[in-house]
Amino acid sequence: MINENISKVRENIVKSCEKAGRNPEEVTLIAVSKTKPVSAIEEALLSGTLDYGENKVQELCDKYDVLPKNIRWHMIGHLQRNKVKYLVGKTYLVHSVDSLRLAEQIEKEFAKHNQVCDILVEVNIAQEESKFGINAKETEELIRKIAKFEHVRIKGLMTIAPYTEDPESNREYFREIKKLSVDIRDKNIDNVSMDVLSMGMTGDYMVAVEEGATMVRVGTGIFGERNYNI
Ligand SMILES: *Cc1c(COP(=O)(O)O)cnc(C)c1O
Repeated sequence: MINENISKVRENIVKSCEKAGRNPEEVTLIAVSKTKPVSAIEEALLSGTLDYGENKVQELCDKYDVLPKNIRWHMIGHLQRNKVKYLVGKTYLVHSVDSLRLAEQIEKEFAKHNQVCDILVEVNIAQEESKFGINAKETEELIRKIAKFEHVRIKGLMTIAPYTEDPESNREYFREIKKLSVDIRDKNIDNVSMDVLSMGMTGDYMVAVEEGATMVRVGTGIFGERNYNI
């Protein structure tokens, strides 16, 4: 089942790329495995999927310990500063950096181990009160400050679009963040690249790919509904 779901999602990504005149190789599928057991990831691995997304540090570390070391673990959830230290050496990319204080903590913990942490800056593009992420207007200023850290490397932007039944309603938000990322790239800030644009989830990843996503984060569409009560 998981394998079939992954094939379906990959096909949809290819279709969206064709529609937008993009190369499908530009798009990385992140299988969001939060709350799902190790056995589900083992099944997904059979399809060659190596990128997995988790939103809790503890769960990411537990899975890291028992699964193959060639997996790329993406931290996609809100990150508390006191948990940063556990991610050193285990995470491939942190998608959810939205404050200078958090970036400072990452700098401190990764410097201790002489490692560099690749990050995305999370933008609350629809300005939803319930969501983490920085306002679009403040993004460049934050990036300029984080860019000074030697052990933090900004690779791009991430956003979580509003929950919706109609993916078309998020197209405008995806366009906006794509434009923001191009604007920032054009500033040529040292130590900052804008190659990654992480946007699109089960409900709207096709539209996100059409609008320039280079990483999509798909959970339900691969592993099925999550049950938070077990
Ligand atoms: C859970 C989660 C996803 C995946 O959501 P689905 O709707 O199940 O695809 C993507 N991004 C983030 C940040 C998440 O927390």
